[in-house]
Amino acid sequence: MARYREANCRLCRREGQKLFLKGDRCYSEKCALERRNFPPGQHGQGRKKVSEYGLQLREKQKAKRFYGLQETQFRNLFDKAVRKQGKAGENLLIMLETRLDNVVFRLGFASSRKEARQLVVHGHFTINGKKANIPSMAVKAGDVIAVKEKSTNSPKFKEIKDMTITVPAWLSVDVNKLEGQVLSIPTREQIDTPVAEHLIVELYSK
Ligand code: SF4
Repeated sequence: MARYREANCRLCRREGQKLFLKGDRCYSEKCALERRNFPPGQHGQGRKKVSEYGLQLREKQKAKRFYGLQETQFRNLFDKAVRKQGKAGENLLIMLETRLDNVVFRLGFASSRKEARQLVVHGHFTINGKKANIPSMAVKAGDVIAVKEKSTNSPKFKEIKDMTITVPAWLSVDVNKLEGQVLSIPTREQIDTPVAEHLIVELYSK
């Protein structure tokens, strides 16, 4: 599958918002957006007018990049969201938020969603005691996501045991046990992703 290989910070600069793609660097003064908060490229500082379509497109790109999905994956998820009961935009965000890689990131077991995806693919996690190595797996209320016993002694996870981690209200975490639980499926209000999902719905409804 095609992967985006250019500098991640360009994506944040394009969207004019922090997408938190580079772990700790995103929280430091080295963040490219702190120093160059304008779109990349020769005409980055010259572009001003944005059409309605442009706004919708940017919002979709932002959400896609925030969660690290490719266009096809994102579109397929949207189609599923439309088929569910309720508002398509909210369904989409909830489905993005409950992906295993995002939950691993939210639980503080990875410094970015990209790292979370790698850790999941490398088989470091279990859900309810069973192997879970597919980043797109959807977690359910009550699921227990844990670092696999064999992996708990790796330096990466050992250092987490000393951390204080704040998680969203729909999750709980026990850093000593290196495990977290999904208390409930998040509501839209519990998802802090800075995305206006109605613009994505409008874009895909054209
Ligand atoms: Fe985005 Fe992080 Fe780069 Fe800042 S450091 S521009 S938040 S990827």
